[in-house]
Amino acid sequence: VRHARRTLTSYAAFLFDVDGTLVYPERAIPGAAHALATLKARGKCVVAVTNNSSLSRHDLGERFRSFGLPLEDHEVFSALAASAQYIAHESPHARVHVFGNPGLRTEIERVGLVATDDPEADYVIVGAHRGINYDGLTQAMRALLQGARFIAVNSDRMYVGPDGGMIPGAGVFVAALERAVGRPADVVIGKPSVRLLHEAAASVNIDPADCLYIGDNPEADIAGAHAAGMDALLVLTGVASAAEECTDPPEHVLPSVAELAQMFDAS
Ligand SMILES: [Mg+2]
Repeated sequence: VRHARRTLTSYAAFLFDVDGTLVYPERAIPGAAHALATLKARGKCVVAVTNNSSLSRHDLGERFRSFGLPLEDHEVFSALAASAQYIAHESPHARVHVFGNPGLRTEIERVGLVATDDPEADYVIVGAHRGINYDGLTQAMRALLQGARFIAVNSDRMYVGPDGGMIPGAGVFVAALERAVGRPADVVIGKPSVRLLHEAAASVNIDPADCLYIGDNPEADIAGAHAAGMDALLVLTGVASAAEECTDPPEHVLPSVAELAQMFDAS
């Protein structure tokens, strides 16, 4: 049984989906910058949470700041950062074979893990990999055959690329290695797994029950937040245009994140 609805201003941490919630493809959602600044001025934790499996937290932060959003590097959390943090919790200082873009290596090393390209590894971590080649695939496959734990950053099939056409997602690279070694990944970190939101809450040391997750997608965001033990706020700037589209109703609905600032100004 869900508890009676809490006031929007009562949560300790506000975790934001990115696309359709904080940003359109190449610019911020109007009012998003002011909303983030207002929350931070009230002492709230804010975190932008993305399934991105290519860019380091700093590179993501730079992208958000270029859109005018007041987000520091530590207020950006991705499936890459979550994967690194997840492995570090399981096995600090583990040797991790990195199969992915340069941002993946950055995040692995940032949490004190040892990144390696050779098959002598405790883990193989797989994200989107623009530099994929036959030798790299062979080394990753051998590491898995030797018993390394298989971590998938996410299982996304494809994304819209910079030219507007579709590009392969991290799940494509995961599937190649799953096929090669004849077993599924041991762990998938990114959405729709609850691990991304759990690691995001852990990154700010706040219990999931005291986090509000804000997103535009009824299935991925609202149901995902509830599965992770968080209340949810639906905004209507992306996938959903009405709250009725949610089979799992959110605790809160607003036209956009801009109205979050007004809720605080009125309180
Ligand atoms: Mg979204």
